[in-house]
Amino acid sequence: MNVLNRINELKEQINRANHLYYVEENPSLSDFEYDELFRELQKLESENPLLVTPDSPTQRVGAISSSFEPHKHKYRLYSLDNSNNYDDLKKWYERVVKEIGHDVELVCELKIDGLAIALSYEKSLFSIGVTRGDGIVGETITNNLKTIKAIPLKISDEYPALEVRGEIYMPKTSFENLNKRNKLNNEKIFANPRNAASGSLRQMDAAITAQRDLSMFCYGIIVDDSSIKTHYDGMMLLKKLGFKINPNIEKVSNIEDAIKYCQKWETERFNLNYATDGIVIKVNNLEHQQELGFTSRVPKWATAFKFPPEVARTKLIDVNFSVGKTGAITPIANLEPVQLGGSTVARASLYNFDEIERLDLRYGDYVFIKKAAEIIPKVIKVDENSREEKTELITAPKVCPVCGTPLEVREGFVNLYCPNTAFCPAQIKARLEYWVSKGAMDIDFIGPGLIEQLYDYDLLKSPADFYKLTLFDLMRLDGIREKSANNILKALEESKTKPLEKFINALSISLVGKETAILLANHFLSIDRLRNATIEELLSVEKVGDIIAYSIYEYFHNENAIKFLDELAELGVVPPEKTKPSENAIFNGKIFVLTGTLSTMSRQEASDKIQQLGGKVSSAVSSKTSYVIAGENAGSKLSKAKNLGVIILMEEEFLKMCEEKS
Ligand code: NAD
Repeated sequence: MNVLNRINELKEQINRANHLYYVEENPSLSDFEYDELFRELQKLESENPLLVTPDSPTQRVGAISSSFEPHKHKYRLYSLDNSNNYDDLKKWYERVVKEIGHDVELVCELKIDGLAIALSYEKSLFSIGVTRGDGIVGETITNNLKTIKAIPLKISDEYPALEVRGEIYMPKTSFENLNKRNKLNNEKIFANPRNAASGSLRQMDAAITAQRDLSMFCYGIIVDDSSIKTHYDGMMLLKKLGFKINPNIEKVSNIEDAIKYCQKWETERFNLNYATDGIVIKVNNLEHQQELGFTSRVPKWATAFKFPPEVARTKLIDVNFSVGKTGAITPIANLEPVQLGGSTVARASLYNFDEIERLDLRYGDYVFIKKAAEIIPKVIKVDENSREEKTELITAPKVCPVCGTPLEVREGFVNLYCPNTAFCPAQIKARLEYWVSKGAMDIDFIGPGLIEQLYDYDLLKSPADFYKLTLFDLMRLDGIREKSANNILKALEESKTKPLEKFINALSISLVGKETAILLANHFLSIDRLRNATIEELLSVEKVGDIIAYSIYEYFHNENAIKFLDELAELGVVPPEKTKPSENAIFNGKIFVLTGTLSTMSRQEASDKIQQLGGKVSSAVSSKTSYVIAGENAGSKLSKAKNLGVIILMEEEFLKMCEEKS
């Protein structure tokens, strides 16, 4: 795609997101995703200045809705430049220092995640209140604002005229209560306190606004008073006049201290009863501010540090040690359940003991957790401020928590390992569960409960035993009738010829996951060739380095594995030989994402088709996605794809493409 097309595409996506966010109060993207698109557009425009047009979202502020009386602002309202890394803050400060000629004092404030408002006072009375809108014209919502107790209706006669800027917000607890009430009454559930504040304020009936618990933190004043020389002076005047300012405002003398302020609040903000999405750093001296001026969208004398997305704080209750299919011991944090990124989280991975030491994690600590790329969240930091005096250290287990075998440290690996590969029940069950899982042999009707029972009855010790099960064996189990037993046997029979990559993945070879299995299958094309591969041959496979090559080699030369593979072959479990995808296979280099329910095939079958034709399947939509295949009831992935301008294929279109080319 050429640059102009990408710029146009980004503009369209951002404008659409702006409308949904500011006007409809129903955002389709997370702020993080929105900021990524915005930054990409800013970057492309700065590299190609001739392509910048005045209507670009990078040149404008917000968006305006037409529900309320429009009002042209006497003084324009701006947005803020923002970044989520400290290097950008340093660069911003360098530009400031270069322009002013020396170091300058800064003011750090919490960035309240609410709705920007301008309040005008005439004859010392609150006369008109307006939303920011597009910064030039806003919506008049004076009557609604008058219901908010934090806004003084009259101020000291000393100040007949002034304009105050600030953020309307809803306290977190009020937001939760509002949603609880709305749920009971089948009314709108707000996604976050910002949406709730905005929705409550932009009500045609001020009586409804009055019922909502809204408040306002003020962060700016325009006043004719020569004694006000700095932003901080202005804030103190606001306080004196009875406006509410945020108490956490701080003056700092350099950018390093501003960064320390950001670091402190990155986690301490969770103790506040209002939502904050970052820190605003402002040049304090008003003359300096004037010297620095504005771009068409933002002041050059201020910038915002945006907090990283989706972090929650909760208490560590306990640490469990799980034994994986390769014997690796993984510490798992058991947490007090907490909301994170739209779901309740009660467990987080701690990966290994190095990680526990790096975090200096102790029993009973409060921790911050974040959604990692995977679905399982991770612990990112301990909240040391709330650590109790006597804390108990977490010690590494000496023996396997399941079979009691002394654990071993393996050179080059960070986890501890249970070496009892053949007999540790946890490892055996994990391998059996993995064998039937979707990404492996994908066998329907067999879940952990059934595996547990078969294991207890001594009917199942290795995946090969699945293929020895009889109708009689299965019908002995709790809750299994003839029909389901037959279904299980049928599913097992069908799995005998699953594609090679699935079979390789199902073997649970240490360090060989789904992706490596695909690479190995496409390279060796048959299980026999892979079994006989030399280290050199393994090393010639894409992304297979020394450690992985040795792990594969060792597996296929291990006596137990040889017996197991031979046994599988005797039982007829033999993946068919693959044909090499042609160099110009239609989906070569293309990345697919599947969403919704497909009517003629399972997701797995669709994935297999894609891979056979050279494509890759990914679980998340991003700008790198080539196609999204949408089935019935497609959800957020579909809307994300639309926003990112990714090509969407209906099931029939996809099948047609496959037919034409295969
Ligand atoms: P912004 O929210 O990043 O920053 C500017 C605003 O910060 C100001 O207008 C003011 O209202 C507010 N603010 C809070 N505390 C402040 C303080 N102490 N001092 C000064 N200002 C303070 O910028 P924006 O233009 O309002 O909105 C852009 C942002 O909104 C994006 O970065 C994104 O996070 C979000 N957004 C999201 C979507 C979406 O689809 N999710 C769409 C549009 C915008």
